[in-house]
Amino acid sequence: MSFSAIVVAAGAGLRAGPGEPKAWRNLGGRPIVRWSVESLLAAGAHTVVVVVAPDRLAAADDALAGLTGWIAAPGGATRSDSVKAGLATLDAPADEPVLIHDAARPFVGHDHIQRLLAGLGGADGAIPTLPVPDTLKRGDGQVTETVSRDGLWRAQTPQAFRLDDLRTAYRAWPAREEPTDDASVMERAGRKVAMVPGDPILMKLTYPEDFMLAERLSGTQRIVRIGQGIDAHRFGPGDGVWLGGILIPYDHGLVGHSDADCALHALTDAVLGAIAEGDIGQHFPPSDPQWKGASSDRFLRHAVARVGARGGRVLTADLTIICERPKIGPHRDAMRARIAELLGLPVDRVSVKATTTEGMGFTGRQEGLMAQAIVTVETPA
Ligand code: MG
Repeated sequence: MSFSAIVVAAGAGLRAGPGEPKAWRNLGGRPIVRWSVESLLAAGAHTVVVVVAPDRLAAADDALAGLTGWIAAPGGATRSDSVKAGLATLDAPADEPVLIHDAARPFVGHDHIQRLLAGLGGADGAIPTLPVPDTLKRGDGQVTETVSRDGLWRAQTPQAFRLDDLRTAYRAWPAREEPTDDASVMERAGRKVAMVPGDPILMKLTYPEDFMLAERLSGTQRIVRIGQGIDAHRFGPGDGVWLGGILIPYDHGLVGHSDADCALHALTDAVLGAIAEGDIGQHFPPSDPQWKGASSDRFLRHAVARVGARGGRVLTADLTIICERPKIGPHRDAMRARIAELLGLPVDRVSVKATTTEGMGFTGRQEGLMAQAIVTVETPA
């Protein structure tokens, strides 16, 4: 049966933690969006419209390089805007099936697609559904009601419709409301949507843990990599130093092109070192005026995003600050909390230690301070 598909990959995926938007992260050596597009093309889709954020059109070319039969369309602010953009772009017969799919569900397979196309035979739409195994509660910190599971189902994607039916249903949908899936748009239009068996493997990657589970399901072997970083900055005029992402009042500042946060620089180099992607100076050249006075948060976030782009994650960080003054102890907890936030880690995975050099050397003479960091990350092998 001839069919086409729209893959929605325009979301930011804010619940997925730091790093690239989820559709563009790596899963088993391939960008997540590529998994679905490959499966849909392999199952016989003549066209797959991939709806991406307008600034991701070039990224889509990279992510889907070598595949034929797909075209990109710039998406909108909401999921439904993106689906509508895909529907406007798709060139296919009016009564032909179109599958609407979220890129964040990478494990769509031939069987799922065949079940949906078969289900569409006797209805205006077909969606994969699963029973709800858990007891459902309504409440807000305290339970106010136990909700009966009778007749409740979880809806997944892809969802199958006929192209013109879905276009018509979207035109009738009230502009101020945002549907959570496409079937609800058809339901509102009074159309009959059939339920076909869903599959747990059609899981939606939403939270950081989901990516780990997906990596396991993808059969990819993972390895732990260790990186280390060292940085030093000289004291100069000022009334405080940026260190570990917080401002510590002091009778000097630190001299540097950026905010001179020695601790975040060491951590950034450690993260980059763990994935063998050069050093902070290569990514953010000191000769580039745009980094003058820059908050070092962005350097570390960038390095963490590079790990995310490889389908990896930071596991632990151990930082040692070497100086006579300022005293680190009173600021240790604030520093740990900030670094944990930047690395996307729980605080108990982040260590901040401090030592002196007993008056010896440049730190002993209080000419400047130094930081060393060791970071572990996990990535696909
Ligand atoms: Mg530095």
